[in-house]
Amino acid sequence: MRILISGVAGFLGSHLADRLLHEGHSVIGVDNLSTGFRENIEHLAGVARFRFEERDICDPFDPGAVEYVFNLASPASPPEYLRMPIETLRVGSVGVENMLRIAARYQAGFLHASTSECYGDPLEHPQSESYWGNVNPVGPRSVYDEAKRYGEAITMAYHRARGIDTHLARIFNTYGPRLHPDDGRVISNFMMQALRGEPLSIYGDGSQTRSFCYVDDLIEGIVRLARSQEHLPVNLGNPAEFTILECAQAVLELTGSKSKLRFDPLPIDDPARRRPDIDKARAVIDWEPKIDLKEGLARSLEFFKNMLRSEGSSPGCCTAGAVPASARPRRERS
Ligand code: NAD
Ligand code: UDP
Repeated sequence: MRILISGVAGFLGSHLADRLLHEGHSVIGVDNLSTGFRENIEHLAGVARFRFEERDICDPFDPGAVEYVFNLASPASPPEYLRMPIETLRVGSVGVENMLRIAARYQAGFLHASTSECYGDPLEHPQSESYWGNVNPVGPRSVYDEAKRYGEAITMAYHRARGIDTHLARIFNTYGPRLHPDDGRVISNFMMQALRGEPLSIYGDGSQTRSFCYVDDLIEGIVRLARSQEHLPVNLGNPAEFTILECAQAVLELTGSKSKLRFDPLPIDDPARRRPDIDKARAVIDWEPKIDLKEGLARSLEFFKNMLRSEGSSPGCCTAGAVPASARPRRERS
């Protein structure tokens, strides 16, 4: 197949490209490098079946005939979407529709990367796809949450009105190699802080929960969903639920770090609990995660150690912490 991936230079997009290329497909990857990095795809530079185009998906473009479109472009880390509120709303609205138009033009399949944030600060626990959510439509996080909810709505509209073979993946917190150490998400922050011997930044009292999925499991779920007959949203995530304090403890145990904990303010509207009900994924795509948090963190350790080593060679890099991503020096985007 000739496949288009938006957000290909990001964490998940680069892993998806690896997987599809490994299966023998051709991949055209587009990305505006706003939160992604060329380094994530530089190993694909010599691969004839891979082509990268630096572009913003909010600007219409024609990649030529494609058989499948994976739409992953969007800032995903809270500090990043808070740094780029309007860009986040645009890529989740104008950008999604541009990608849907490409799918419609070429009668291609389409999968949109949606999110557990569609459930907001959920009043139902665990969250199943039938729950409509508890989202603050005007709070700071609304730029991401409402864009993603709109993305689901317009995807369903293209399915219903234009007959496009669309799929919606509601992705829960995913981590692994290439999760950028500077983008402010909890696993990357804790891993880098632990390796540096700095205090781990716990937001609030650390009693809030998340359910962490290792990237290889998530990519398997995405690929299966893309090939399924299911058009309504499907949760993809690991149902094992941890408090943020437990997550910090797991990182300290793995790294052997003597880092202390530091308690910082909880971000506005930070969801108190999050855990996917994955019964639907089990039933419709015969999928469930296989890699638990301990093993996933161990598989990610070498990547974060390499990032730490590169700090010396790249001044100002990898200073993740409680400082918002917008205020931190960033890795060079070549
Ligand atoms: P990421 O920030 O690493 O990757 C997103 C990529 O999209 C980046 O490379 C960025 O440069 C690119 N991008 C952003 N705006 C763009 C635009 N206008 N045009 C072209 N490219 C653009 O994030 P990620 O973790 O890889 O997330 C990928 C997708 O999965 C996102 O849509 C995100 O909302 C969704 N998701 C991720 C998670 C997770 O835990 N990783 C959870 C839920 C949903
Ligand atoms: N968090 C934290 N310390 C950090 C980064 C995040 O305690 O250094 C918390 C954050 O407040 C949230 C959880 O960890 O409750 C997950 O945050 P992340 O930004 O990774 O993703 P979210 O699930 O909020 O989108």
